[in-house]
Amino acid sequence: MLRPANGYKLHTVTQSFAMPSVIRLNRYVRAPYKGVSLTRQNIFRRDNNQCQYCGTHKDLTLDHVIPSSKGGPHSWLNLVTACKRCNAKKGDHTPQEADMYPRHRPYRPTYALFLRDNSGFGNEWDEYLR
Ligand SMILES: [Zn+2]
Repeated sequence: MLRPANGYKLHTVTQSFAMPSVIRLNRYVRAPYKGVSLTRQNIFRRDNNQCQYCGTHKDLTLDHVIPSSKGGPHSWLNLVTACKRCNAKKGDHTPQEADMYPRHRPYRPTYALFLRDNSGFGNEWDEYLR
C-alpha cells in the first residue's frame, strides 16, 4: 500500500524511486463535477473563518455585500463572512454607501481548494490547485 507522504519510495521489481509529492497526469478523465454547496459553514471556510471587514474570528455571521433589499443575490459572489458588529454597522447599505469593502473579493470555491485546506499537503500543492 502506498502512503501519501514524502520520504517514501516507490518500488518496482528491480528499481526504486523517491515518491513524488505531485504527479502530473498526461491524460485526464473528467469526473462528474458537483460544486461546493453554498452553506454558511462553507462560506466561513472559504473566508478562513474571518470577518471580511475587520478581520476578527469571533461572532461570525453572513453578510450580503449588496443587500438583498437592493437586489443582491444569495450567491457565492455576494456573500461574505462578517462579524455581528460589522454586519450591524453596514446594515442595509452597499459597500460604497457604508464605505466598507470586503478584504477579499468573494469567489466560488472549488473542491480542490477545500481539499487542500484539509489534506495536510500544504503549500507545495498551491500552484496546482488554483
Ligand atoms: Zn467585523
